Amino acid sequence: MRILHVAAEIFPLVKTGGLADIVAALPGAQARHGHDTRVLLPGFRGIMAGVPELVPVAQIGPVFGAAAVRLLAGRLSESGLMVYVIDAPFLYDRDGNPYVGPDRRDWSDNHRRFALLGWAAAHLAFGELDPDWLPDIVHAHDWHAGLAPVYIRQNPSLKTRAVFTIHNLAFRGIFPLECYGETGLPAELLTPSGIEFYGSFSFMKAGLVYSDKITTVSPAYSREIQTPEFGWGLDGLLRERSSDLSGILNGVDYSVWTPQDPKIAHAYTAQNPSGKKLCKRMLQKEFGLLRDDESPLFAVVSRLTEQKGMDILLDALSDLLDSGGQLVVLGTGKAEFETRFSQAARAYPGRIAVHIGHNEDLSHRIMAGADALLVPSRFEPCGLTQLYALRYGALPIVHRTGGLSDTVVDATPDTIASGRATGFVFDRPDSRTLGARVREACTLYHNKECWRKIRRHGMLQDFSWNDSAAHYEALYRSLL
Ligand code: ADP
Repeated sequence: MRILHVAAEIFPLVKTGGLADIVAALPGAQARHGHDTRVLLPGFRGIMAGVPELVPVAQIGPVFGAAAVRLLAGRLSESGLMVYVIDAPFLYDRDGNPYVGPDRRDWSDNHRRFALLGWAAAHLAFGELDPDWLPDIVHAHDWHAGLAPVYIRQNPSLKTRAVFTIHNLAFRGIFPLECYGETGLPAELLTPSGIEFYGSFSFMKAGLVYSDKITTVSPAYSREIQTPEFGWGLDGLLRERSSDLSGILNGVDYSVWTPQDPKIAHAYTAQNPSGKKLCKRMLQKEFGLLRDDESPLFAVVSRLTEQKGMDILLDALSDLLDSGGQLVVLGTGKAEFETRFSQAARAYPGRIAVHIGHNEDLSHRIMAGADALLVPSRFEPCGLTQLYALRYGALPIVHRTGGLSDTVVDATPDTIASGRATGFVFDRPDSRTLGARVREACTLYHNKECWRKIRRHGMLQDFSWNDSAAHYEALYRSLL
């Protein structure tokens, strides 16, 4: 099959979250299964600079307010994955991240920047940009690519089918109606059964209405988003389309996320985890924490937001400290949470340490050095960090929601005895419940034999892409 993925991020060139890891890994897994898979990306700075030898494929000319627009193609240096890049300096050559400027506010022309992404995907499918390569499937990821299925539908004779994946329904790509004219789409689509969304219009909704199949990134989240509590006003639509909606769990690229990776101080395995002790000591040293093997080291690698439950954790710090734990935080996000974590680090030197920012290498060292990873998300479509933590032998402590509940087995007397436990799962996203689980984890940490047993079982879990890629393949086949 010829598969075109359409996305705004790809690891390692542009990454703000898990989407980037998935867009880098899934197409590679599909290529290994024998498919001709390519990725279409906006020409952000990191992408223009990071893909070697980009060659022009098509001159697109003035569109979406940009005078000079070209389609380029090249291959990613490590994976060899073929990518198309939309070179539109006026829209994409900017500081900041893909969605917000250095002032952390959304770019005011995001509707044009991401309409161009969907439009280019459709015109590739029409054969107007690269006549030598027509995709059978256009697989659009998150709201950024939400208009791709709509533009595709404008050509009813087209055989290409559109799949849309929700990575996080909370980000719906909502814009004022006045902006709609600039998408070039017909006015008739701007109705409540089409793209209109409560007096605005939504790229996410567009993807949900006009794609042939909808997926999301875990089975539990596919059920949750059909309820008002997690549906962000789109649950009715998702219930209507439930026969086309499925949850396919994200995978992990174990060639990147492995306790033998070159970014960590000492390699180790599930069978021989002694290197992990050294990684912990190195991490304690790096962060100025007390060098104490007996103190369980908790970690956070996360966007610092309400979704991720960072306020819940901040309110549970006393439980962690009272029960002898240490904490390392790597993250960036809401200013208030950055400040509160930094204050906690100043108040408890040697016990709490914080690095505000995005740092890929450090995230690996933290996974390797930590005894446990805290993921108290209020909702979590899939979550990748708990999967990475499992492989590195850091026991995940997670809220029972979305992909977290699909991937971590709670340590209870029963699951510990039967050898199935892989971490801790708590039922309510509040600081009392989290604090209680953290205390329990600290107690269990001192039962060395039991802790090692759970850790070993977690490290042996297999969340590689093979299964997930096969599920996507079956889904595509059902459409062709
Ligand atoms: P989300 O995409 O909602 O942020 P995921 O758990 O799916 O959450 O993916 C988060 C990804 O971003 C993981 O690869 C994680 O390691 C990474 N990450 C998050 N914050 C940071 C950070 N401050 N520095 C480095 N990597 C980070």
